[in-house]
Amino acid sequence: MTRLCLMDTEASRRTPAIEAASRSAPLGVLILGGTSEASEIARRLADESELSVISSLAGRVSQPTIPDGHVRIGGFGGVDGLISFLRNERIGAVIDATHPFAARISASAESACRQLGLPLIAFSRAPWAKQEADRWHAVCDTERAAAYVAETAGRVFLAIGRQQLEAFSACSKAWFLIRAIDPPDVSLPAHTKLLLERGPFHLEDELRLLRDHAIDYIVSKNSGGHATYAKIEAARLLGIPVVMVERPQKHTVPTVDTLNGILAKLSRLQFQLAAIQEPCAP
Ligand code: NAP
Repeated sequence: MTRLCLMDTEASRRTPAIEAASRSAPLGVLILGGTSEASEIARRLADESELSVISSLAGRVSQPTIPDGHVRIGGFGGVDGLISFLRNERIGAVIDATHPFAARISASAESACRQLGLPLIAFSRAPWAKQEADRWHAVCDTERAAAYVAETAGRVFLAIGRQQLEAFSACSKAWFLIRAIDPPDVSLPAHTKLLLERGPFHLEDELRLLRDHAIDYIVSKNSGGHATYAKIEAARLLGIPVVMVERPQKHTVPTVDTLNGILAKLSRLQFQLAAIQEPCAP
């Protein structure tokens, strides 16, 4: 049988870790999650008897959507903690399907996989592309977005989740509609209405929200995906500008941007492991 190589990381080529994993079926797979795509991957892999899948959530939201199968919740304790977890659980491959703005866990995953010689399948959903009628003002991080708001003031729909709201706390001249899943644990700007809601959001509702609150502009991350895109469409239809926070540099390894791409890489890896298990023809 032909032996295949998974090309995601240099270290993934028939390393001791892959050899070891090949001797102990089923293949242990860790899915780093917190996204709808990670849950969907866990759902699709749940019935695969040749895989032992664990999903990992950071534990940021109080009532997370729990993926199918085995789930663990909470940080690993940096790269060293992740390495220990991967060793203890005899993980043979890692799928990083975290959010495009979750850069630290991806850096940990790359480092841990490199050190252990484990294959890393890195997913990055496609960013939203600017359409002709969009009025986007691109900024490279939330601090720049906050600086824009501090200067511009007006009525702002702040739709970046709750983790980086602190940057806006000193924007005392603007009025904010802030939407998050859970109550923020940082001090909010002086003039704020808080909306606790979880997506997916729909176009009609987003149009109503923007109109009812006489929103002048939106601050959004370029998260990509469908669940939160309706506000961008609504802004386009109403001619409302969007301060668009661009993504951090997250991966240094090649990424895939579809679920089928992840599954294809995983089945190539399984094939590779099967090839290692099978004795070579003389
Ligand atoms: P981050 O800045 O990359 O990670 C901060 C720390 O949280 C990591 O160092 C790690 O702690 C822990 N962590 C993150 N994701 C984890 C996971 N899937 N499993 C176990 N531990 C994890 O991430 P973040 O921006 O805080 O996002 C946290 C989670 O929320 C991610 O899983 C992400 O997919 C999801 N999410 C994030 C956003 C966003 O806008 N950032 C939006 C939607 C969903 P240790 O160093 O202790 O291991």
